[in-house]
Amino acid sequence: MKHKSYSGVDLFRLPAALLIIAIHTSPLASFSKTGDFILTRVMARVAVPFFLMTSAFFVISRYAKNRDRLAAFVKKTAVIYAAAIIFYVPVNIYSGYFREQPFLPGMIKDLVFDGTFYHLWYLPASIMGALAAWYLVRKLDYPGAVAVAALLYLIGLFGDSYYGIAQKVPVFRDFYRQIFLVSDYTRNGIFFAPVFFVLGGMIADRRQRLSGRTSLIGFGVSFALMLTEAVTLHTFGLQRHDSMYVFLLPSMYFLFQFLLCFSGRRRERVKTLALVMYLVHPMMIVAVRLAAKMLSMQSLLVENSMVHYLAVCAASLLIGAAAVRFAEKSKTKTIPGTAAGRAFVEVDLNSLEHNVSVLEKIMPSGCRLMAVVKANAYGHGAYETAVHLDRIGVRAYAVATIDEGICLRKYGVRGEILILGYTDIGRAAEIRKYNLTQTLVDFAYADALNRRGGTIKAHLKIDTGMHRLGVDWEDFAAVKAVFAMRHLKICGMYTHLCCPESQKPDDILYTKRQIDRFYKLLGRMEREGMKIPAVHVQSSYGLLNYPQLKCDYVRAGIALYGCLCAPHDRTVVKADLRPVLSLKSRVALIRTVKAGDSVGYDRRFTAEGERRIAILPIGYGDGLPRNLSCGNGSVRIRQRCAPIVGLICMDQLAVDVTKITEVAVGDVATLIADERDGAWSAPNVAARSLSISNELLCRLGERLPVVAKW
Ligand SMILES: *Cc1c(COP(=O)(O)O)cnc(C)c1O
Repeated sequence: MKHKSYSGVDLFRLPAALLIIAIHTSPLASFSKTGDFILTRVMARVAVPFFLMTSAFFVISRYAKNRDRLAAFVKKTAVIYAAAIIFYVPVNIYSGYFREQPFLPGMIKDLVFDGTFYHLWYLPASIMGALAAWYLVRKLDYPGAVAVAALLYLIGLFGDSYYGIAQKVPVFRDFYRQIFLVSDYTRNGIFFAPVFFVLGGMIADRRQRLSGRTSLIGFGVSFALMLTEAVTLHTFGLQRHDSMYVFLLPSMYFLFQFLLCFSGRRRERVKTLALVMYLVHPMMIVAVRLAAKMLSMQSLLVENSMVHYLAVCAASLLIGAAAVRFAEKSKTKTIPGTAAGRAFVEVDLNSLEHNVSVLEKIMPSGCRLMAVVKANAYGHGAYETAVHLDRIGVRAYAVATIDEGICLRKYGVRGEILILGYTDIGRAAEIRKYNLTQTLVDFAYADALNRRGGTIKAHLKIDTGMHRLGVDWEDFAAVKAVFAMRHLKICGMYTHLCCPESQKPDDILYTKRQIDRFYKLLGRMEREGMKIPAVHVQSSYGLLNYPQLKCDYVRAGIALYGCLCAPHDRTVVKADLRPVLSLKSRVALIRTVKAGDSVGYDRRFTAEGERRIAILPIGYGDGLPRNLSCGNGSVRIRQRCAPIVGLICMDQLAVDVTKITEVAVGDVATLIADERDGAWSAPNVAARSLSISNELLCRLGERLPVVAKW
């Protein structure tokens, strides 16, 4: 999604870089003072916020598996900053920078806020802005983060374009004087950058985009207001500096939304070009002046502001283009898609989204989906799956363990997270800290948890016939006692059906009895004047075979992932579910074996004639069932079937590709396909290994990266 709509943003980098050069060369200065003000002090002021938002688009998110992206961004920016500082040492010597006194405090100030040469401030500001926005968004979510960042911006405003007003009030004047001791401007990483980083991240995370029309109108109106604001402030002489305006914020928001309306491929080259132009243009200003002096062409090249500007642009473009060529050459060519490596799980989030809406349509109104994302979301990647579900508005989740719940919170998932299984009582504080909900697995457990003190959110589990977890449905005294426990906030109550998939008459009878028992208990509670919390009974098959139950939640797992457990399962409701996952691997090598040669451990395969064997770097260590060995399982390569030969190893397996002559190293082989029926559908592969889809999928190991499509 992010990548689909990025070409407008990529292309706008070039005009933005040209605007920044305009700020530092004032192309209209020779012709019109007002024109120059409007171009360089108003229009061009969108350029830096644009670059900040562009960075934010890929760095800031309320969802994150870890801090890798932030760390990579900070590191990259720091390296560019260090390189730029070194690059500008000669210019700084030339301009007498190192002779300034006192030297050290000035230098620290420059390093952290102002940039060692006047334009480099952008780089430390990016680092600080990204860090600040990251923590604000994670701690406060967008509404809070926008509020805090906007407040910082407001403080900045009064040290910038509105300084004339702040200056009149002594307290404020003193306040800003202190600030200006450490930073020349409030346009820095604390007051200026964070709000644009937060806005960029917010736009990236939100799925709803404004239409081209709306964003263009929004931009037009905001920009007109910004122009009015700027001219007014300028007329009254209130500006100390002119980087920050109130209406810059809406202008940027709408401009960015507008740029996202252009879809197409990424333009990596423009990115490099703009960055280099931005970095070298001050040097090019010096170079053009020097050249003008040497050629005695100052009147044209320096004094004519437009020619001067164009000369600086041309020189910067030239260096930028050279850098792009160089970058291109030094880039190692990668085969498309190899990022996913030797073997990977591919999940189609569009199908996941489709399944959510299908299940929600089957559920009675008022009933909500509780997405079961235990066991790494049945092998689909807990991060990829839960984050997508959070994005599309699912607000209830079920996990098996407390650690799975904590992970979801760290990823940025909101809403209820119910731990279905047992949690050590010693971890009660963590249940609270991460706002998780604990299942009370029996009376003794509830009692022990209650005795720890400190309120815990809980769902009470009732045993109606599965005889696994739960308080016995007939033990009303126990149920009543649990509800009376002081430190347990019981916001839900549920039971689990043990054979909802079965169509056998006595199984159906048993299931109906389970359901009946649960509702009997609820009836008794009602009669005794107890408050009934949210209730839930059905898992996937519970919903598909007993859709009429009135519950507050459905705990759907396998159906959410678009599968049934076994190939011949039939359900009362025929749901149009789409399998989400495929399991793929790449051909690592191809060898020919002669008649009589054996392949793999225990010599379980011996070639009867000459065979071509492809080795796939995936094995039972990745969760592939070992009993698919020796022809029991197969893979799909180039739309054909290649049987597995010999024993599956921990990390490799061999397939016979003798009949598929066109197979080449690097080819993708499919082991589980995202198709409803057919040899490689999850239920079929599972059945071949004498299991069910649930087990097959959830055992796919942590060693497999998850590649999400949407
Ligand atoms: C795993 C689990 C589910 C989900 O079951 P599916 O059949 O995959 O939908 C629901 N409830 C409980 C208690 C579970 O343990």
